[in-house]
Amino acid sequence: MITRRDFLAVSGAGAGVGVGAATGVVPIASLGMAASVLGARPRPASQPASEGDAHRGPCVIASGNGLAAVTRAMELLDQGYDPADAVVQGVRINEDDPEDNSVGYGGLPNEEGIVELDASVMHGPTHKSGAVASLRHIKNPAQVALLVLRRTNHCLLVGEGALRFARQMGFQEENLLTEASRLAWLKWKANASREDFWLDDAERDPPAGKVWVSDGPGKLSAIDPDGVKRLTGTVHCSAVTRAGDLAGCTTTSGLSWKIPGRVGDSPIIGAGNYCDNEVGSAGCTGRGESCITNLSAYTMVMLMEMGKTPGEAAFEAARRMVDRSKESRLKGADGRPRFNVSFYALRKDGAYGAASLYEGSFAVRDRDGARVLPTVPLYSKGG
Ligand code: ASP
Repeated sequence: MITRRDFLAVSGAGAGVGVGAATGVVPIASLGMAASVLGARPRPASQPASEGDAHRGPCVIASGNGLAAVTRAMELLDQGYDPADAVVQGVRINEDDPEDNSVGYGGLPNEEGIVELDASVMHGPTHKSGAVASLRHIKNPAQVALLVLRRTNHCLLVGEGALRFARQMGFQEENLLTEASRLAWLKWKANASREDFWLDDAERDPPAGKVWVSDGPGKLSAIDPDGVKRLTGTVHCSAVTRAGDLAGCTTTSGLSWKIPGRVGDSPIIGAGNYCDNEVGSAGCTGRGESCITNLSAYTMVMLMEMGKTPGEAAFEAARRMVDRSKESRLKGADGRPRFNVSFYALRKDGAYGAASLYEGSFAVRDRDGARVLPTVPLYSKGG
């Protein structure tokens, strides 16, 4: 079982890495720009070529945990299903899997031990989206999101309203907390030096301002919350048909031990999932707050529209996220991010690519079959 401390370790936290070509990072001076313009952040080198950029034709990509999802989605595309059905049925395999503790049934719970799920679907041909957030007791939020898309005039239902809608659509409520996830939560609860998502004053960069709470009508007072660190996991899946129609879906139990009601990037269109039928489809997994504040999925599609290949668009979205990670608590002593995010991009013609802040993987089902490939990382954990 990975702890949140382990996650920080694997995501490169505190890795004392030098600057040089072997690390995938070039010295600022060699970029011909003043360090003062760029700030002190280490800059990644330009990316190596991404082999998926040369692919053409029907294709499904997913996060690294989505090998079964891409395989299933392509089977459905081959049978003529709409790409939105294909991606939702693909990720359903992860949602139903109790061993996958990042999604659906078996997902890791919030800080009160309750599993809250987020998901979105975007459909290229209609440019419609549907999403649910903080949905409890329903193990297939992506299917509920698809029904929001198809059966309502809305984009996003949350919490109690999302649950009622799911019930009305015939979904069964169940306990989503598996024994393994409950034990993981108990272990976190029992951890004396517990890390959570509340920030104390030392963790807020100036100008931090005050945190104001209501003391009753017309009265406010400041509070001092405490702590941060996280464990992430999600499945994103994007598909393109032979005719060039696109859809994307992202589904997750979000960050483990999150503050109840916290919504990540997965159900936010443009953040963890976005698709434009004229251009392509993209999604992200990892620290959702960074994907929201950088609108990373939209950014990738926009960059593809401006002529970048999917591999270039994913890499550039990753670079932008690093450049815009301003808070010092998010960076190690070496200036590198203390979290990981992976970026997945699929173009209308079937070209694809993926990048990440640190090493990661993605799944693809293209003309050569289904397999898991490495993403192109900005930084190496190892050096
Ligand atoms: N992006 C998800 C969220 O922030 C978590 C993850 O992908 O690991 O909710």
